[in-house]
Amino acid sequence: MIKVMKFGGTSVGDAARILEVGRLTALAAISTEGAPVRIGLVVSAVTGVTNRLIASVDGVLQGRPVDGFIEEFTNIHAGIIADLAAAGIDQDLLASAEREIVEVTSEFENLLTGIRLLQECSPGVHDHISSLGERASTPLVAAVLAGRGLFPRRLDPRAFLLTDSVFGNASPIMEEIDKRLADIRASTASEDRVMLMPGFFGADIRGKITTLGRGGSDFSAAILAAGLHADRLEIWTDVDGIFSADPRMVADAFVLDEISYAEAMELAFFGAKVLHPRTIAPVVARGIPTVIKNSFNPDHPGTLIHASPPPSERPVRGLSTLSGVSMIGLSGAGLRGVPGVAARVFSAMAQKNISVILIAQSSSEYSICFCVATNQRVDAVNALEHEFILERGAGLVNPIESVGDLSILSVVGDEMRSRRGIAGIFFGALADADVNVIAISQGFSERNISTVIAAPDTERAMRIVHHFFFNTRQAVQVFLVGSGAVGGRLLEQIRMQQVHLAAQQVDVRVCGIASKNRMLLDFGGITLDTWKKRLSEVPDTPFELLPMLTKISSARLLNPVLVDCTDSGAIAKSYEAIFEAGLHVVTPNKKANSADRAYYRSLRKTANRRRRQFLYETNVGAGLPIIETLKNLIKSGDRLRICRGILSGSLSYVFGRLEDGVPFSQALEEARSKGFTEPDPRDDLSGLDVARKCLILAREVGFNMDLSDVVIDSPIPAGFDLSGPIDNFLNRCRDLDAHFATRVAEARKLGMALRFVGTIADGGCRVGLANISASEALFQVRDGENAVSFLTDRYTPIPLTVRGYGAGPDVTAAGVFADLLRTVFWNTEVL
Ligand code: ADP
Ligand code: ASP
Ligand code: MG
Repeated sequence: MIKVMKFGGTSVGDAARILEVGRLTALAAISTEGAPVRIGLVVSAVTGVTNRLIASVDGVLQGRPVDGFIEEFTNIHAGIIADLAAAGIDQDLLASAEREIVEVTSEFENLLTGIRLLQECSPGVHDHISSLGERASTPLVAAVLAGRGLFPRRLDPRAFLLTDSVFGNASPIMEEIDKRLADIRASTASEDRVMLMPGFFGADIRGKITTLGRGGSDFSAAILAAGLHADRLEIWTDVDGIFSADPRMVADAFVLDEISYAEAMELAFFGAKVLHPRTIAPVVARGIPTVIKNSFNPDHPGTLIHASPPPSERPVRGLSTLSGVSMIGLSGAGLRGVPGVAARVFSAMAQKNISVILIAQSSSEYSICFCVATNQRVDAVNALEHEFILERGAGLVNPIESVGDLSILSVVGDEMRSRRGIAGIFFGALADADVNVIAISQGFSERNISTVIAAPDTERAMRIVHHFFFNTRQAVQVFLVGSGAVGGRLLEQIRMQQVHLAAQQVDVRVCGIASKNRMLLDFGGITLDTWKKRLSEVPDTPFELLPMLTKISSARLLNPVLVDCTDSGAIAKSYEAIFEAGLHVVTPNKKANSADRAYYRSLRKTANRRRRQFLYETNVGAGLPIIETLKNLIKSGDRLRICRGILSGSLSYVFGRLEDGVPFSQALEEARSKGFTEPDPRDDLSGLDVARKCLILAREVGFNMDLSDVVIDSPIPAGFDLSGPIDNFLNRCRDLDAHFATRVAEARKLGMALRFVGTIADGGCRVGLANISASEALFQVRDGENAVSFLTDRYTPIPLTVRGYGAGPDVTAAGVFADLLRTVFWNTEVL
């Protein structure tokens, strides 16, 4: 049994990590089934060292002295040696490691000095310098292994890992490598039990060091595994395995237990850094099962990559992003119908060793565009200008275009093949995230769909697409404007539910609270136990919506919602700006929906265009499901004949009390002291509030009308003086007691009840007093209750009635909360 284990940069990042490598190797070397286990170890440079080596070349080319870089390199490794000594590793072993590192360091110094003198660094020298990190880390690992009695056979990649001469991105010559490893492979000698090799580099036929591309130690390990005909390859890194998406970008990404070689290849090719993109090819050729494991959490089983994992439940296995991408475009009338243009484009790229990441061609054959790594953008443009120089001169081809600062977002999965609707979800998610798709490509294997997007959009796009496909933790970021009675109750209700919702994978996070003159913003989430105190500590300045929106949109949140719990007309006028800034709007504020028709319509258009939700169930009947019910009736093809409703909690109370024989003035006083009325009860009695509600309902049915079209019959007899201070008015109300007593008695004589109702019928709306017969649902409605009856084509002769408490901060806040959660569940549909 031969096993190849590769330890990445963080896994050899310091003395403690290297000791752990020793422990894990010793564990692996213990035979479990009798047959001896042989281990091929491949190690990366100590974390960060390769970057520093490359930076040193740029540094001396810019005139910086050599010494600083040498000192840094020396210190990193000397520090680890000192720590290993302190941990009890034998001095002789460490001295021999140190000698080797000193040699590597002097090689480094000579090369850097040469570069500094010549002010030039050839690709070959660049690769030589880049390889020194691995050459310095390997002796450290050797010392630790020897300290455990596992004296490793050192494998020098320069001697067997033959590559072509493409510096910076060399390819192995597998047949030759296989031959060169034949003896070692067949060896049964005990000194060949543990083999140790630095990763990342090999050498070309002239013996010049070549590197396999950044992150290439994974590839080295795969080459060694193939060359040793290994039974298993283990890539030990700093995460538990291959995740459904880069765990640094997507907090709720999860580890994939098993994936296919093809899936791993696609994910790696499109940027999943956990695996070098060329790692899979050598192992797939020999069918070597490959495991990604976490050296910081070795008990985790990791991700197994092999030929035939069980099919995933979901069509998409994972997502990846590739940054640092540019797009190159070739267009021109002279390209149409001309055979061989694509061949010329791509052979021009191949000649310059430029790898083409993704291709998109318009069906008119009028243009070809493709992506390359941004560091090859200029070369690619020059190569094309050169290739098409004659066509350019003749005006048949336009100037070569290129765009930088892009990235590619890919969804990958074997099960995507022949499944419908995946692209729909993918692009729908991107649209919801407000991400513009620049180019699209789907491979013939249908195993991946890739899109080119602007680099700054990458992370948000990734998070929302992950969310759509895997529907894991859902989030809503709440920005509450208006922290009075309803707003305050809402915060309390959210606080009570947060834990429960979190258990259902819903993260409702309040990120902003604003009152008239204070604003608290915290994108990490405001703790709801202490919001009042925190808000009161904020400096006192009049609240302004627009600066808040600017901050929110630049935070690029996934699902921000503005909750307007004010009765402010100015904020209601700003909903369009709020949608434009990327927020949904949830509100009990009736002002927007009862504003003029033009605004009403434009608001909906903007919300649709920006794919934001506008939710206002609490505009009518607080928490009662009135608007939603009506919408559903109409959507499903029903037709409203008559709608009648008791839509004012205060008037419901007042008229209920009149029935009990209580005088009008006293009933009004009671309603007021119970907090049912507006501060000035004349606002309720004017009927304007009920008129607004009627208008909102009527507009849902398609009535194209304004508030001024609603006929309001005041419950107060004409000529009664409504002016003056509240108290004077309330005193004067006694004069109305007899009038209302008579009206109630008249109704009763007819077996009816006097109610203040809003009616939508015959293309119009009317609000006013009406006698309601005992057979109607509204007959019973009093004590502050609301009710609406919908008589429709389907619900006839008995109308559909929604009834219950329709006012008060608690039920209103509950309705707002329910709307808020609708923004979360709008995309639970997963294939
Ligand atoms: P090493 O030095 O061990 O080779 P790398 O830094 O090259 O480690 O690769 C591991 C990193 O890859 C992880 O820390 C993680 O941030 C990143 N990564 C990107 N995409 C994924 C993914 N889909 N699954 C796991 N890790 C990923
Ligand atoms: N040390 C090399 C790099 O940083 C190779 C590797 O870590 O895989 O690119
Ligand atoms: Mg790596």
